[in-house]
Amino acid sequence: MHTPGMFTPGCTHPDPVAVESLCDGLAVMATRTAKIGPWQSGAFASLASSGALAGFIPTDGGGTAATEPALLELLAAIAEHCLTTALVLSQWASACRIIAAGPADLRAARLPPLARGETPTTVGLSQLSTSRRHLAAPVLTASKSRDGWRLNGLCPWVTGGIACDTIVTGAMTDSGEQLFFVVPTTAAGLDIAPPMHLLALSGSLTSSVRFQSVEPATVIVPAAGGGVRAGGLATTALAAGAARAAIAIVASEAGTRPELAPIAASLRTEADDLSQQLTAAATNTIESADRDRLRAQANSLVVRAAQAALTAAKGAGFVVGHPAERLMRESLFFLVWSCPQSVSSAVMCELAGLDAP
Ligand SMILES: Cc1cc2nc3c(=O)[nH]c(=O)nc-3n(C[C@H](O)[C@H](O)[C@H](O)COP(=O)(O)OP(=O)(O)OC[C@H]3O[C@@H](n4cnc5c(N)ncnc54)[C@H](O)[C@@H]3O)c2cc1C
Repeated sequence: MHTPGMFTPGCTHPDPVAVESLCDGLAVMATRTAKIGPWQSGAFASLASSGALAGFIPTDGGGTAATEPALLELLAAIAEHCLTTALVLSQWASACRIIAAGPADLRAARLPPLARGETPTTVGLSQLSTSRRHLAAPVLTASKSRDGWRLNGLCPWVTGGIACDTIVTGAMTDSGEQLFFVVPTTAAGLDIAPPMHLLALSGSLTSSVRFQSVEPATVIVPAAGGGVRAGGLATTALAAGAARAAIAIVASEAGTRPELAPIAASLRTEADDLSQQLTAAATNTIESADRDRLRAQANSLVVRAAQAALTAAKGAGFVVGHPAERLMRESLFFLVWSCPQSVSSAVMCELAGLDAP
């Protein structure tokens, strides 16, 4: 179903013509996607038909196994044109990555339809990394039953819960081990709340999901060191793409107001530098502190670029429907989404004018 043109084996960049064609289409659908979500607007189907989804899936699972730098470049380009679609794709990709690390029968059954875009999936993992971590007890637990596992509790955040066939989640066992599970959204005892009305990105159809004695389809034991990690490079790629969309507004206003040209140029230089660092980080092994530093840098850039776009667009940009007001709201998403403590701390220090810890 997908055209192989998006990724060629071993490439470090996606095919520019395929990316442009995909992103042009996503931009046309963006207003509908922001309202009803990419599953219904056609955006998710175009990710599949362009070969974008297949890039995230290993070749023995029916995908094209694109390189990490190529995938990050694609995610950033998509985020620049439709952040809702990029968020949904990043959560889908996280789920696929965990499934790809699972047992052979799971991989064989699930990966090929995922590569074709036939069985949308998502993740509910933040309870293991960045959500409700200050509470005394884990909010989602797994206990061994006679015939498998039973999940009880809450996934506070699941993008596209109501639109997906499965949720890949993680829960804490009685012995304190973290396990991943693939849970069909039709499972008995699973209650997906209506999607939340959010400051931005409501089209992501993000819900909380309650589990009452839910028996998951499959358990995946994470490999050593393979626990949940927030603030990965994909989250930085999305922030970089969103920043570029805002910088484009400043650059466009600079067409008739030359005094804005150095502002646009300076922000663009920063965005180019960030992209280069991202590619380098994806190519080499990177320490977790450096990964978090990159994310904090991206957070700072996306928020400043959005404010610059709004300032350049003036009152006209403050009117609902102008791209500047949407980008402004969407930039704030990065302050709360998948932010490890060190990233939140760096943002807070910048806001308070303090040196980073
Ligand atoms: C649009 C959107 C989509 C998302 N999609 C997904 C998804 O698909 N999958 C996924 O896994 N995650 C997802 N997330 C979750 C995200 O990655 C973060 O985990 C989440 O934003 C963390 O916020 P929280 O309110 O749950 O954090 P919490 O830490 O639970 O904070 C909640 C409240 O608790 C209090 N609090 C926090 N820390 C402390 C403390 N140390 N001591 C005392 N009180 C404290 C504060 O009052 C705070 O307002 C999504 C988030 C958003 C906004």
